[in-house]
Amino acid sequence: MPPLSVLFKTVSTDCNLDCSYCYYRQSLEGMRVRRRIDRGMLEVLLPQYMEYVADVGQAGFAWQGGEPTLVGLDFFRWVVDLQEGHARRGTAISNALQTNGVLLDDAWGSFLRHHNFLVGISLDGPAEVHDIARKDRGGHGSFRRVMAGVDVLRRHGVDFNCLCVVGPHNVHRTRELMRFFRSEGFSHIQFMPAMDFQSTEPEKPAAYSIDPEEYGEFLVQLFDEWYQDGKPRISIRTFDSFLQSYLGAPNELCVHGDSCTAALVVEYNGDVYPCDFFVHPSWRLGNILSHSLRSMAESDERARFVGQKHPLPVECQPCEWKAVCRGGCPRNRITLEDGRQTSEYFCRSYKRFFSYADGRLRSLCERVISRLRYLQQSQLIEVKSRSRLGRNDPCPCGSGRKHKVCCGDPVLSQSYVFRQVG
Ligand code: SF4
Ligand code: SF4
Repeated sequence: MPPLSVLFKTVSTDCNLDCSYCYYRQSLEGMRVRRRIDRGMLEVLLPQYMEYVADVGQAGFAWQGGEPTLVGLDFFRWVVDLQEGHARRGTAISNALQTNGVLLDDAWGSFLRHHNFLVGISLDGPAEVHDIARKDRGGHGSFRRVMAGVDVLRRHGVDFNCLCVVGPHNVHRTRELMRFFRSEGFSHIQFMPAMDFQSTEPEKPAAYSIDPEEYGEFLVQLFDEWYQDGKPRISIRTFDSFLQSYLGAPNELCVHGDSCTAALVVEYNGDVYPCDFFVHPSWRLGNILSHSLRSMAESDERARFVGQKHPLPVECQPCEWKAVCRGGCPRNRITLEDGRQTSEYFCRSYKRFFSYADGRLRSLCERVISRLRYLQQSQLIEVKSRSRLGRNDPCPCGSGRKHKVCCGDPVLSQSYVFRQVG
């Protein structure tokens, strides 16, 4: 059984910012009810979940919103105790928190470090870019407060990465973005095109704020910034995922994976859905208070969702990039009157990107593979899998350099590299 992660919406779509592209925005209009995750529901879910993942020994929790920190630090203190109380011996627990960062203070920093949370910070670039779209309800930019949150994470040594939404405000400013992220020392970045749709209305076609040509050009320029003569020093999740595909490995990004194998999404009230883009009654798998986790995770409905990418649309069948693109995200397809689906909205972006980057991605693969052979020979893989190396620890290969800039460099240390030879 593959590991099953669970994504919790601690406050549903409630948020303390008012970003212009947020696809939850319309659903908040007129909303007066304050929504907070039901602790009773978690007391029911946690024992079931820990039992469900006991065989694989990995329990993965992702905390999102809206803005998940609105639920308060006491909630997270309570929940890690609950996790530890119900985990079977030997289960590795991981927690990931996606936040806009504005509420983070030293108490949060200390807690997140102590419990090894991986934090994703939403940041769209330098102040003059970020503040165009990511404003508070008073219309003020949030950059200064987000960076104060980043400082908290740095001071406390919390592992964090950055989520940058690509919209009209930054799609033509690729070099400026990368200059900023490099100067701030961000080593792991995810770029995500802004999509203006209601996850609660999956039957409605999405509206998009950038077109496929713009996003394709963005990817091309980003790739040039990232590639660095075949020695990328920053992990960009989209490119890591393409590299996984080129290596023939399972892709950790569902959009370019073989199937829709996202985590189960648990709403604040216990309703469960198969993906955050399909929070709609037609895809509701049940509720924690009335259905067992196992029955929902193994339901025919979830299996139908996981398989919904296939068959790929007619346009994808002869596509030369099918093996590495894998059809993109079904949420970005349009269902025609005769029931057929179009290829996804960003199809032309991917084609442009693969035509441009194919040769260099292939040579990067060769480099990864030759490094793997070296690692196998020197049996470093065993050392790595047994140890819990920190990124700043001395590299076990004996180079004397920090692990993160040696065998643990962002590209070569991706977990898929080790799975490939495991
Ligand atoms: S619908 Fe899109 S976002 Fe959801 S699991 Fe499938 S590929 Fe991922
Ligand atoms: S590039 Fe376009 S046609 Fe090719 S597999 Fe991807 S979505 Fe389908």
